[in-house]
Amino acid sequence: MKQYDILVLGAGPGGYVAAIKAAQMGAKTAVVEAGELGGVCLNVGCIPTKTLLKSAKVYESIMNAEKYGIDIKDKNSVAINLDAMVKRKNQAVRRLTSGVKMLLEKNGVDIYKGFGEVVDKNTIKVNDEILNTKNLIIATGSSPMIPDIEGIKESFEQGYAVTSTEVLDPKELPEHLIVVGAGTISIEFATLYNALGSKVTILQRSPRILSGIDKDLSEAMAKVLTKKGVKIIYGVKHKKFEGNKIIVEVNGEEKTFEGDKILVSLGRTPNLKGLEKLNLETDRKGIITDERLRTNIEGVYAIGDINGKHLLAHVASAEGIIAVENIMGKDSKMSYDRIPSCIYSFPEIATVGMTEDEAREKGYDIIVGTFPLSANGKALAEGDRDGFVKIVANKEYGEILGVHMMASTATDMIAEGVMTMELEGTLEDIARGIHPHPTLSETVMEAAHLALGSPIHTLK
Ligand SMILES: Cc1cc2nc3c(=O)[nH]c(=O)nc-3n(C[C@H](O)[C@H](O)[C@H](O)COP(=O)(O)OP(=O)(O)OC[C@H]3O[C@@H](n4cnc5c(N)ncnc54)[C@H](O)[C@@H]3O)c2cc1C
Repeated sequence: MKQYDILVLGAGPGGYVAAIKAAQMGAKTAVVEAGELGGVCLNVGCIPTKTLLKSAKVYESIMNAEKYGIDIKDKNSVAINLDAMVKRKNQAVRRLTSGVKMLLEKNGVDIYKGFGEVVDKNTIKVNDEILNTKNLIIATGSSPMIPDIEGIKESFEQGYAVTSTEVLDPKELPEHLIVVGAGTISIEFATLYNALGSKVTILQRSPRILSGIDKDLSEAMAKVLTKKGVKIIYGVKHKKFEGNKIIVEVNGEEKTFEGDKILVSLGRTPNLKGLEKLNLETDRKGIITDERLRTNIEGVYAIGDINGKHLLAHVASAEGIIAVENIMGKDSKMSYDRIPSCIYSFPEIATVGMTEDEAREKGYDIIVGTFPLSANGKALAEGDRDGFVKIVANKEYGEILGVHMMASTATDMIAEGVMTMELEGTLEDIARGIHPHPTLSETVMEAAHLALGSPIHTLK
């Protein structure tokens, strides 16, 4: 029987990072993966979506070339080659997943391909092989949640209803894509297919899209999508699916929407199969863990989507490192109040920390600085002037409580907010830090100046 110090179940961005870290810290480590190395993130999540979104952005830029002083005589000759787009996406995935394999091997991690079934907290069965471990890290991730709606199963069987996985490998462009739900994944796919020329309708239950983010951002995104022709229907109650149709109730009235694909994107469900014998404490979101990633069972840790705290790849990886450090005798904790969250729409959205409403609800005396991209030189040069940066700070010392932004490169720029918060930095720190010119990052500095009451490139 093989004996390990740490066995990691699942090799997504949580599991494979934990395994590398464990091996680097001197633990004899194994990782067990039922599907593909890299998990959802590399295979059917973060990377494939962003690769396709890049293709869509190139297409959108070409179709709007005259905005930049470039005339295209015959736009009908500009064609989307879906096969080539998907091939490019698959190449990026292959390159990254083989990179993960190489990293695991070179760090001395044993890789087992197969479904890991937990016999007890020290014993895992994989393809008739029994592995023994002192510590277990569960990193089995999540799967698309399919709600129990009449006819939905049949609609999936007929290929009309799809999840985020199938919609990544389109054989042809849907003429009309219906998106059920309006969270991050929904908005990214709405952006993708809208930019590629599909008609897109979003059906949303609550009165706003992206209900978890700062209200100003979600309203701005709704405006951008609407301007681009995406239809958003609010207050929708789902009644039933009939093949390519979804029948809903909106303000007490029954309505039918018909599309050639219906993307069901209503959240994720934790992958708990194979863990039944452990008697883990769980809730609706997944396995309950503390800030050290410990479960209710000693020596068993749960990281990433399976604990349902933040369904994000970078959180899974960070939790993997923290779990391993705790196993190896360090006392490490996650800081869940500084998690960046990104939406790769056009323009992008990125946030960290408290929203303005949250800060007020928690009783903070706050100041807010909001600087529009339309007053920024680089934004004008690039032709991307939709958006703004909003900083929420504690009035007393100017400590940053949250940063919220919509900008073409927001997902990169948010790191400034994250690092400032990590260092418990203030508005003064951001305003004094000399930002390169011309860049979109200057908008962060300008928002800080504004919050301090001394704006330079806008009026009070
Ligand atoms: C369309 C889409 C886009 C996304 N975009 C982003 C993004 O841009 N940025 C971001 O931060 N996050 C994004 N996410 C979320 C991100 O993919 C997840 O948060 C992340 O993959 C979670 O990592 P994980 O390691 O917890 O689990 P997963 O990536 O789900 O990996 C779990 C692995 O465990 C394996 N497994 C499950 N059970 C067993 C078992 N019993 N035995 C062996 N193996 C098992 C599975 O096969 C899987 O490979 C996106 C998700 C989707 C669906």
